[in-house]
Amino acid sequence: MRIIFAASEVVPYAKTGGLADVAAALPKALMTLGCDISIVMPRYRTINAGQLIIDAMPVPFAGRRYCSVWFDRLGSLPVYFIDAPQYFHRSGLYGESDDVERFAFYCRAVLELCKRIGPPPDVIHCNDWMTGLIPVYLNSNYAADPYFFKTATILTIHNLAFQGLFDPSSFGLFDLDPSLLYGEKGLEFGGVASTLKGGLLHCDAITTVSRRYAQEIQTPEYGFRMDGILRYRRYSLIGILNGIDEDEWDPTSDKYLPAHYSIVNLAGKAICKRELLKTFNLPIELDRPLLAIVSRMTDQKGFDLIIKAMDRILETKAMLVVLGSGADKYERYFQALRDSHPDRVGVYFGFNNPLAHQIEAGADIFLMPSYYEPCGLNQMYSLRYGTVPIVRATGGLDDTVENFDRARMRGNGFKFYDYDVNQFVERVYEALLTYADKDVWHQLIINGMSQDFSWASSARKYLDVYHAVRRD
Ligand code: ADP
Repeated sequence: MRIIFAASEVVPYAKTGGLADVAAALPKALMTLGCDISIVMPRYRTINAGQLIIDAMPVPFAGRRYCSVWFDRLGSLPVYFIDAPQYFHRSGLYGESDDVERFAFYCRAVLELCKRIGPPPDVIHCNDWMTGLIPVYLNSNYAADPYFFKTATILTIHNLAFQGLFDPSSFGLFDLDPSLLYGEKGLEFGGVASTLKGGLLHCDAITTVSRRYAQEIQTPEYGFRMDGILRYRRYSLIGILNGIDEDEWDPTSDKYLPAHYSIVNLAGKAICKRELLKTFNLPIELDRPLLAIVSRMTDQKGFDLIIKAMDRILETKAMLVVLGSGADKYERYFQALRDSHPDRVGVYFGFNNPLAHQIEAGADIFLMPSYYEPCGLNQMYSLRYGTVPIVRATGGLDDTVENFDRARMRGNGFKFYDYDVNQFVERVYEALLTYADKDVWHQLIINGMSQDFSWASSARKYLDVYHAVRRD
């Protein structure tokens, strides 16, 4: 099975969120299962790895442009980089006014590259709106190209909120037939146009990153206006829970931690807590519960609930550490909270991977009251690191966190259902009460740490999808 995995961010080369973790770990797991798989991603300005293998590859796009191609190996996994400085040497990965054009070019370049690097892929695995035009190009501009006759596509939705919206007046740039704008499977979408919509209508199968999210996105509440399309394609839509990279996130060997620990010896976790409190200049009081947040600071992640709950949370003895960056209003809020409670609250604004690991290890409780959460990785990292998650039961959070049942000593965390501050605070209080009973808490931690969140079983499900769509 030959697979091309197209993703706009891949750890360790570029990352803004969970997609980058998945785009490294899933192909690795698929390779272990025997797939011949290569990653293709843009070469951003910050990427230095690899060597130049194609100097000037023509890409039929907006007239004709060229890109060069670089190559690297991630372990033994081949990674190709599309190098087009005019599109990808920007200050960040996304957020530019010509984003859709940039990634449309990338999609076209991925297809041109396929023809240069070996036999036709059985499947091109696309990820999110940045790759949405790959199935569209394949079904139109490349429909008569014998090289691609047996190539199928799947598209994974990592977050439906991001849809690659653009003004239909720029459609001419993409070298697509005009019928693909307003026709039956056209990209037009309520007055604008969307590359994601194109991908969803033209791919052979759609996957998303948890079973619960696969159901939720078919409803108006979570469908971001695409619920109708997803209901229409419901028989080709499947939810497969993300795994975690168990080498990267392993408390027995994590290179970022001051001490290691395991399910049979948790002593190192206390050392991690001590060091974390020092890092944030908080009092070294190991018996006080330490709550944590590591997150993009956006509305999606439930920050309005956290803010509404904060007074009541701070009435307890708990301390809080926060790592994240994003919306100004949230950064300002947490800075003010730190200033008014310097012995209770620590904050770090920015992206800091080592610190994310240290927080997962050193904290007692992880807060993730998301409004929606396609899969969520942090709650799984928390579980693996013996840090108890408190989540809202949505998307992958609902699929991975089971409410703790004290009578039967079953369950791995705490979850609430309605997006409601009282329900959230109740769960926090319940967690703090449980924390006070060390034996019970220990069992709760063990329940989480003994779960299997490896990629092995999820990768097998992706392989089943590849087999289902393949054309011979
Ligand atoms: P999303 O993809 O919606 O941001 P996930 O929970 O799926 O949420 O994945 C987030 C990933 O990004 C995790 O690996 C998490 O550790 C990481 N992360 C988020 N914010 C930061 C930050 N400020 N510093 C370091 N890592 C972060």
